[in-house]
Amino acid sequence: MTLLAVEQLDARHGLLQAVRGVTFKVAAGETLALVGANGAGKTTLLRTIAGAHRPVAGRILFAGTDVTAVPAYARLRTGIALVPEGRRLFAGMTVKENLLVAGAYGRAGPWNLDTVIDAFPLLRPRINSRASNLSGGEQQATAIGRALMTNPKLLLLDEVSLGLAPIAVEALYRSLEALIAGGATIVLVEQDIARALGVATRVACMLEGRIILEGNAREMTREQVTQAYFGLQRPRRTS
Ligand code: ATP
Repeated sequence: MTLLAVEQLDARHGLLQAVRGVTFKVAAGETLALVGANGAGKTTLLRTIAGAHRPVAGRILFAGTDVTAVPAYARLRTGIALVPEGRRLFAGMTVKENLLVAGAYGRAGPWNLDTVIDAFPLLRPRINSRASNLSGGEQQATAIGRALMTNPKLLLLDEVSLGLAPIAVEALYRSLEALIAGGATIVLVEQDIARALGVATRVACMLEGRIILEGNAREMTREQVTQAYFGLQRPRRTS
């Protein structure tokens, strides 16, 4: 079943067109990795899907309903949660408070304080620590946990491993792999192509606002994605 369908989406920052005619689908239970160089338009695309940025053309269908004009808070209630680049936690609040605040805005479902802490066990000893005192990995786990507390049907993750120590990235991806195995539907922006190919079911590569390569992660080589990443390959769709 298609959960998310993006059709001919255009998004701008003033005169700059950051997203150009982007079309793709994500089925329930799939993980789509969105890769591409800095400035390719990945963040703008995720923010547009979440309702944080208004598109100038195109449609976003979520579970069959056109949500293009639906504001961000209402999209959250329908089950679209964004983990933004840079985490944006409430710095003066504890981990627990950050999680509970989010829970108040979402939907009912399996995710609560206990299940989030089970999914990110590194947070257990830090539950009463202020977000500002956490390591980067702990902050990122809190940011993802905060999104899960809203019980999303679709999780949009923007560069969750950016700036983290390798050991923190490992821990984070172990938790993400468990989420994926549990049936989560995820769109993941990831700079690390090998890691993206490792967890994703599908991969889409963006260049200058367009998706120039899209296909099943298992059928794509790292070389193909790298070439598309740097604009060395003609546009194509592998499947
Ligand atoms: P990165 O990996 O650097 O975050 P990205 O692929 O996520 O890159 P975007 O952040 O979506 O790309 O940026 C796409 C284009 O839009 C870039 O040219 C960027 O400079 C521009 N842009 C992004 N945000 C703004 C903004 N708030 N105002 C003006 N231009 C912006």
